[in-house]
Parts: sequence; C-alpha cells; structure tokens
Amino acid sequence: MLVYSHTDCLLKDNGFNHPERKERLDSILESIKQIKEFKIDFKKAPIADLDIVSLVHPKKYIEKIFSNIPKKGLIGVEKEPYADTMLCANSKNAILRSCGAGIAAVDDLMNNSKRIFCAIRPPGHHAETMKAMGFCFINNVAVAARYLQKKYKVNKVAIIDFDVHHGNGTQEIFYKDETVAYGSSHEFPLFPGTGSEEEIGVGNIFNAPIKSGIKGKEFLKVFEEKVLNPIDKFKPEIILISAGFDAHTRDPLANINLESKDFYEITKKIVDLANVHSKGRIISFLEGGYDLLALSESIKEHFLALKP
Ligand SMILES: [Zn+2]
Repeated sequence: MLVYSHTDCLLKDNGFNHPERKERLDSILESIKQIKEFKIDFKKAPIADLDIVSLVHPKKYIEKIFSNIPKKGLIGVEKEPYADTMLCANSKNAILRSCGAGIAAVDDLMNNSKRIFCAIRPPGHHAETMKAMGFCFINNVAVAARYLQKKYKVNKVAIIDFDVHHGNGTQEIFYKDETVAYGSSHEFPLFPGTGSEEEIGVGNIFNAPIKSGIKGKEFLKVFEEKVLNPIDKFKPEIILISAGFDAHTRDPLANINLESKDFYEITKKIVDLANVHSKGRIISFLEGGYDLLALSESIKEHFLALKP
C-alpha cells in the first residue's frame, strides 16, 4: 500500500485552539508507521499542477486565495459565523501538496497500485468550485476524480464520503455530472447544512443524513442502504474515499457514536464494492477527524480493511 504525505502539510497553522491542527496529521502518520501487518511505502506529495487543479477550480479562484496569503499571522477567508477557514504564511504549499497527493496517487493507481492513502491537510470536501470554507480551499478528491477522467479516460468514478459532515463542495462540483457518483453519510442537521435526501443531482447524488446519537450498527445499516447500494448499481470503475473520522464518539465537533473498530467495517464494505466493480482500486483522502486518540485508532482500522 502507498501513502502520500508531506511535511509542508504540517506547517499549515490555523491559530490557537483550532481543531484542524498539525497534531492530527502527526497522530495519523505515527499510527500508520506502526502498522506491521503489511508493507506500506511512503511517498512525498508533489506540488499540484495548476492546470490540473483548474479541472475543478478556475485559475482566478486559486490565484485569489493565494493573493490573500499573509506574510505573517492569519487571515480568515470566510465571513461570520464560520470565520475559521484560515490562511497562514505557509498555506500555499500545504494546499498544493494536499491536492498534488491525489494527482500523483491517480498516476500510481493507473500504473498498478491498488490502494493508496493521502495523509494530507488541509482537507478538501467542503471546498466548492468558487468557495473556500470549512477549513478547505481546493477540493482534493474532486480534482483527482476529474484528473482520472481527463487523463485516463475513466468513465465512471464514485466518491464515498463517511466524514461526519456533508461534503457540500464535492456535491456542488458534481451536481449535474452523471459520470461521477457522490455518496455521503453525515450527521444532519449539522455544518454545513446541506445533504438532505432531496438533493439528488441528476440521480448521481446519494445522501444519507443521520440523526445525532447513532451508534455503529445503526450507522452501518443506513450507510449500506443509502450510500453503498446506489453506488453498487452505479458500477464505478474507480472508488475514491473522503475519509473523515469525526463520526467517532470521541470527536468534539459532532455527535455520532462510532467506535474505532466501526471504521474497519465501513471501509471493508467499500473495499468489497471496489473488488466487484473497480478491480479493487481505491484512493482514500484524509478529510476531518479532530480527536487525536480517535484518529490514531481509527486510521489503523481503516488501513487494516484497505490492506491490498
Ligand atoms: Zn468533518
């Protein structure tokens, strides 16, 4: 299995007491390095090519974000009440390497790597075509999907998102695109407010809103029925995962009560789908997850299920 990451992703600073902090990625990488069950190769995430990023986000949008980067201190890119999507002096490379990880992973995937994880921050699934929000600037998973289609002529890509928040950005980007299926389980209502079952796109969007307080067994039932079954019918050639671990019971930002081992079950079900339709090919992208112990345990479960 391959893991893409980069020390630049640790340099993005969001300020004191911000949940999206470098220690998240430290715990994840530390935990991955301790996995002895199978071989893991680490690769450095390259800087994303702006021509490829622009398959999703117009260059004008990307340039505007970078022009706002401060020489020191922090600048928020959103208006109240969610003024917590921050730019710091080191943001540019962190943003471009997070996206570049997915692009390089696509090239590896199409050259015979079956399972790849992008250990990156900032995350991406809240970033819309023209809007940075929810700690996200470039939609990493969306760029990878478009790149798969553009360079490798892959017809049907599925993005499965089990982060506890709805990936409004991914949904917005592919809302009218029948070649990309987006399936998401998420606590509802919760930030960002989208993700009801009525939002169906052109029959390619599969939202599974979940009430707060639900535990693993019930979660899996809904996930299977409302996300996996429709994706199964879609028959994706490649599966991309938006892997957020904030539906964990320890997570401070949400109220779904998954245990670490539930991430094994969730991932295993996605792997089963990939084995049927996608020659087992999966790229998984780190999205949210804000409790360090939950992250380090859950990532191990995720990897054990992804084991090639
Ligand atoms: Zn999240």
